[in-house]
Amino acid sequence: NKFVYSFHEGSKEMKSLLGGKGANLAEMTNIGLPVPPGFTITTKACINFYDEGKTLWPSLIDEIKLHLAEVEKTLNKRFSDEENPLLVSVRSGAVFSMPGMMDTILNLGLNDKAVKGLAKSTGNERFAYDSYRRFIQMFSDVAMEIPKVRFESLLEEMKENKGVHNDTDLNSEDLKALVEMYKKVYFEEKHEEFPQDPMKQLELAIKAVFESWNNPRAMIYRKLNDIPHDLGTAVNVQSMVFGNMGDKSGTGVAFTRNPADGENKLFGEFLINAQGEDVVAGIRTPNEISELKDIMPEVYSQFVDATKKLEHHYKDMQDIEFTIENERLFLLQTRAGKRTAHAAINVAVDLVDENLISKEEAIMRIEPNQLDQLLHPMFEPKALADAQIIAKGLPASPGAASGKIYFHADDVVAAKARGEKSILVRQETSPEDIEGMVAAEGILTARGGMTSHAAVVARGMGKCCVAGCSEIRVDETSKIIKVKNEIIKEGEFISLDGSAGTVYRGEIIKIQPELSGNFEKFMTWVDEFRRLKVRTNADTPKDAAQAVVFGAEGIGLCRTEHMFFDEKRIPAVRRMIVSTTLEERKKALDELLPMQRKDFYEIYEAMGERPVTVRLLDPPLHEFLPHGDEDIKSLAESMNIAFEDLKDRIEDLAEFNPMLGHRGCRLAVTYPEIYRMQTRAIIEAALDIKKSGMESILPEIMIPLIGDVVELKYVKKEIEEEIQLVFDERNDKVNYLIGTMIEVPRAAITADEIATEAEFFSFGTNDLTQMGYGFSRDDAGKFLSDYESKGIFEKSPFEVLDQKGIGKLMEIAVDLGKKTRANIKLGICGEHGGEPSSVEFCHRLGLDYVSCSPYRVPIARLAAAQAVI
Ligand code: ADP
Ligand code: MG
Ligand code: MG
Repeated sequence: NKFVYSFHEGSKEMKSLLGGKGANLAEMTNIGLPVPPGFTITTKACINFYDEGKTLWPSLIDEIKLHLAEVEKTLNKRFSDEENPLLVSVRSGAVFSMPGMMDTILNLGLNDKAVKGLAKSTGNERFAYDSYRRFIQMFSDVAMEIPKVRFESLLEEMKENKGVHNDTDLNSEDLKALVEMYKKVYFEEKHEEFPQDPMKQLELAIKAVFESWNNPRAMIYRKLNDIPHDLGTAVNVQSMVFGNMGDKSGTGVAFTRNPADGENKLFGEFLINAQGEDVVAGIRTPNEISELKDIMPEVYSQFVDATKKLEHHYKDMQDIEFTIENERLFLLQTRAGKRTAHAAINVAVDLVDENLISKEEAIMRIEPNQLDQLLHPMFEPKALADAQIIAKGLPASPGAASGKIYFHADDVVAAKARGEKSILVRQETSPEDIEGMVAAEGILTARGGMTSHAAVVARGMGKCCVAGCSEIRVDETSKIIKVKNEIIKEGEFISLDGSAGTVYRGEIIKIQPELSGNFEKFMTWVDEFRRLKVRTNADTPKDAAQAVVFGAEGIGLCRTEHMFFDEKRIPAVRRMIVSTTLEERKKALDELLPMQRKDFYEIYEAMGERPVTVRLLDPPLHEFLPHGDEDIKSLAESMNIAFEDLKDRIEDLAEFNPMLGHRGCRLAVTYPEIYRMQTRAIIEAALDIKKSGMESILPEIMIPLIGDVVELKYVKKEIEEEIQLVFDERNDKVNYLIGTMIEVPRAAITADEIATEAEFFSFGTNDLTQMGYGFSRDDAGKFLSDYESKGIFEKSPFEVLDQKGIGKLMEIAVDLGKKTRANIKLGICGEHGGEPSSVEFCHRLGLDYVSCSPYRVPIARLAAAQAVI
């Protein structure tokens, strides 16, 4: 029942118990890096804390006191000492790093006595009172919920009265006076004196950190990042070192490589004579890390050595927090650095080339969904050159974004709900802005450096961000940006180039990026490992070609209905639907045939030797018809029939529940000639392309919505007859496959029978989920969010495949299908085919391929490789 570990007792493997920060502080201690001594109160203690009704129980307090005594002994300092007082920081540290989410208190232990001791032991009275006023504010804010502004306004007032700009310009008398004012504020707010007993301060602080685990910002962050709510946070109590002791002291943050592009070069910032969050909060403009070399060469080279040691030890890019106290370096934190997808790929490939990690490890390091960032459009160069530059800021997180500007997170969220693209513009962001940052296309801040809140969070989300754009004045109240003589108002368009840090007026057109270099190298490794093939869902030659660029190995689903909506075709489609005789219908279909044939020919062409699965018409015919009286009238005129007749026909076709209605193969039972026309187009196009030299063409004809083998037999017979007709007419042949979607639960559980007729199965998991769960896809949006917020579902089953239930139906179908036809080809073409956890499931099921939209192809490839490793 140990709840407290000294840093020298822990290790990086103990993350779930000590939290990320604690485990890494322990690890750094044990590999001989300079870490101020301290201890970690475990995540288990946090969970216990909630079980105990949010109190710290006596034996825990004893354990804390014991470890505190050890620190006192090591440093030869004591709480409240008038000669040489011990001060500590109280730092939260969850298992998964949650930037800015939890609160840290510095300089704890200061009181009226200790401040004198600190002045004495350091010979620096100004510094001592500066630390005290910082402590009172932080403690009051974090642990006692007294608004920060109450203190900040006093500080501002003091600076104004003194006619100075920076807090470093205040002298010790000023700070002493401030401390007295701060204590008064505390008394006004809490109706008791500022706590003077360090042990009481410590207990309150620990409680506050435990309680901050459940503050709304932390809850939102966990929800956004799928972090469980029951992990708890650890608390680190660490002896203080001081970056605010004068010109030989400072504090900073550095990445061992560039988190935007991965370049192998130290990247970071520091501030001389500053403490804690000063760098991150953007109080003063920080210096670039390389400048430390000129100011303190010795310390700089020590720091560089430490970063190298850490990177080698962790075998990954590190994000390091450090403090310098009178030219002595201390490390305060290390963790794997958050990075853009672009940087993640470059770092992973470089680490393999540097022999630090294996290809497998590199593959496992990239979160598949992150690749999305790399595939997305960038500004068209010419449009960019013509655009008006408004200002330049820091290139905080790469990407291209255009949108209307909004100044508050709520407004961005509302704009998104209206379907608008927007840019969140803030003086600087804070954790309260998270939801707005998620909803925005990009983020622009006027203050803050490369490691400011906006920059760190945006890079983590892969969202375009320009930070610290000091040329602009952001007025959040009047909702305007002022630049030089110009004003940009809320709702006007701007564009951001996050890689250059440039802000443009107006909207700029975007184009596809080229994928090359390390991305291609990485993806070849991915392809070496995966077994699953990855196909794409594409209905046009353009989409097909894009998917091939992204590595698609075929088309798993070519929907034919979208082709029918084409302006030139829809009249023929409608005539086909409303015709009352077979002759009329065939006439309309004959008009459509050459267009369909051209569609397929061009798609085969775009795909080259790769297989193409074409699904025959699926949606209810009603969807193709006009609905308003005006539209019906003009259609009736163009078709030369009576308005009333047409209206009757349209009403006849209306269904109460179209998803379960006259669609898919059921259409072909009533009107076999529709599938016959499509089959003819597929086969004729294949014969044409075969003639042009593509001998290996192998069209795969897919029949939707089969539930019973008898249905399949009927439709297949019609199709095969038509194929034979074409072969006879052309006196030529091609190989082809006829298969079915498995999307009706009855088909899944009678798959052994279905497989007697079907040469392949493709799981249509959208419909299979709809019918398996009985959730209407068109209506479920209304209530599934309640399922998610009430914890019944973690994710909508339409987004992430329900492996247990719907997955079970797939498993049954795979087993039964193979029983009848051992070599049956198996794939999936629902939305889930591009969702990483579902791809992994398909790998385990032994499917041959997954099929997904073109932009998800690289994601599916990576997920498929990770499934093997
Ligand atoms: P976060 O999780 O928000 O990064 P930290 O616990 O890392 O919070 O604390 C923020 C900053 O406070 C650190 O980067 C460091 O500069 C400062 N800090 C924390 N503990 C100490 C300490 N013991 N001595 C000096 N500075 C500290
Ligand atoms: Mg913080
Ligand atoms: Mg930190």
